[in-house]
Amino acid sequence: MLNVPTQAFPAPSSQQRVAAGGRAKVPLKPGRSLMDWIRLTKSGKDLTGLKGRLIEVTEDELAKHNKKEDCWICIRGFVYNVTPYMEYHPGGEDELMKAAGTDGTDLFDQVHRWVNYESMLKECLVGRMAVKPVAAPKGMLPEKKVLGASAKDLTPSYDWFQTDSLITIVIYTKQKDMNGDLVIVDCQDKRLRGEIIVGDHSYLVELDLYQAVQEDVAVNIAEKVGKVEIILKKKDNIHWKMLGQPLESHNTLLKRMDRGLFYRKCKLVSKTEVTHDTKLFCLMLPKSTHLHVPTGQHVYLKQIIAGTEVVKPYTPVLPFLPLDFKEPSCHDGACIYLMIKIYSCGLFTQALNHLQIGDYISVSNPEGNFKKSQVQTSEDLFLLAAGTGFTPMVKLLNFALTEASCLRAVKLIFFNKTEDDILWRSQLEQLALRDERFEVQFILSQPTKDWTGKQGKISSSLLSEFVKRSRKDSKVLICICGPTPFTEQGVQYLKDLGYSQEEIYAFTA
Ligand code: FAD
Ligand code: NAD
Repeated sequence: MLNVPTQAFPAPSSQQRVAAGGRAKVPLKPGRSLMDWIRLTKSGKDLTGLKGRLIEVTEDELAKHNKKEDCWICIRGFVYNVTPYMEYHPGGEDELMKAAGTDGTDLFDQVHRWVNYESMLKECLVGRMAVKPVAAPKGMLPEKKVLGASAKDLTPSYDWFQTDSLITIVIYTKQKDMNGDLVIVDCQDKRLRGEIIVGDHSYLVELDLYQAVQEDVAVNIAEKVGKVEIILKKKDNIHWKMLGQPLESHNTLLKRMDRGLFYRKCKLVSKTEVTHDTKLFCLMLPKSTHLHVPTGQHVYLKQIIAGTEVVKPYTPVLPFLPLDFKEPSCHDGACIYLMIKIYSCGLFTQALNHLQIGDYISVSNPEGNFKKSQVQTSEDLFLLAAGTGFTPMVKLLNFALTEASCLRAVKLIFFNKTEDDILWRSQLEQLALRDERFEVQFILSQPTKDWTGKQGKISSSLLSEFVKRSRKDSKVLICICGPTPFTEQGVQYLKDLGYSQEEIYAFTA
């Protein structure tokens, strides 16, 4: 069935998420980069062939436009003529053609739901799907609120109370192992948004508060009973007659994938050099935001580049790599540290590099499906990283060496082009000296003549040399991250060497 939009038409410029990447990319012809596409969309050229008109499209009409030279795709009820975009699609024409003349929403969500198609394809908008009236069974709630019996039992609930100076919102999550990674709170102006992650679902409290509150928001979590308290300080010590007006998604439990990404503006507080082309960016969260990016998860950064919203994923790291590490706070707020390689012709990273200290950038909620518990139950941990594929390994390494008591050996095999490209080399070497469980091996693909260490790219022989169980039947976890071909080849070699799917975790988009 077609996904028909419930929002106003044309689409509001809501959560817009753009990026190239993630999926296997195909080489694009010269002149077909994202920047070239943005230029074409700004050129005033009629990209739909409809001379600026928007039409209502029936399913039959959509189905007729199923050829490369005449290709329409429906995403969330809006129909786009993607023919002009074919050559610019990082995933290639064939990927786009899979949805030709049909509703491509599910396919799109599976591949890269964070891509900001609304902004990217706005000049290709043909119109929206003609709404087919669907008779809803009597008494049925709107779709997002329909919960099965078991889901209903698991649905969190909330309550609130006040003192002269405080408002406390209590969320009963009905989840025993609640922790700070699972609670994300933002309060901007009078708008409060509290998201609780419950397995693969997200519960939301979202209100326009009755009165203004102060900037600092406290969050208390009673982990064992799954109770979360959001404590707000009243700006004026007056009695509140109500908590506030519920917003659209208030008190809903949705699949995490179906919850739009939420962004808040973070201030760039420092930018330090890590190598000749890689920098550590420190972004300060607003005082009213409670957000912790779990190990192995990434966030999306959003910037407007040449009038188009562009979004790219980045994996937060720690500011440095000591043992017994406690997450520091910078100045008066919590910070997110990002280690980012600046590509000389990179669209997003060039714009990032031009940000000045004090500038703001939008940062999303975390995403990713890595589970720390996999590390806790392993005896041997192997981390295969290439270039900035090192970033997810940073928190992982810290967690493994400080909190995973079963682990006997942790080995990082770090692939880079040259010695100058190795990120945090001396910190890694020091860590290896300080903790006998940790070992690091650098492998260079383009070394100078002076390099006496290992050379080459990922291969079966290199992996069989470095990835070995410490005991015949020891429990192993192998995490791999880097350029897509590196990760894909690595996974294949590991499988050929006899490691099972469950023993391998590949970081991808
Ligand atoms: P683009 O304009 O897209 O590309 C310009 C040129 O840069 C390309 O022609 C190519 O030469 C080079 N280039 C671009 N992207 C890549 C790439 N992915 N691999 C190799 N060369 C490329 N990057 C970080 O630096 N730090 C991170 O923590 C980080 N985390 C990520 C997490 C995830 C889940 C994913 C999928 C990617 C992550 N990346 C990270 C990559 C990041 O999202 C961008 O792809 C990268 O910053 C390039 O963006 P750009 O717009 O500057 O380059
Ligand atoms: P790079 O170009 O500097 O290459 C680093 C090493 O990767 C090379 O020395 C080589 O050993 C290996 N490599 C590169 N291309 C290869 C290929 N085609 N086949 C086999 N091995 C290859 O790397 P970079 O510019 O730092 O790129 C890092 C990559 O990691 C980016 O693609 C980025 O998107 C990805 N990344 C992904 C995540 C994630 O969570 N999914 C996080 C961070 C970075």
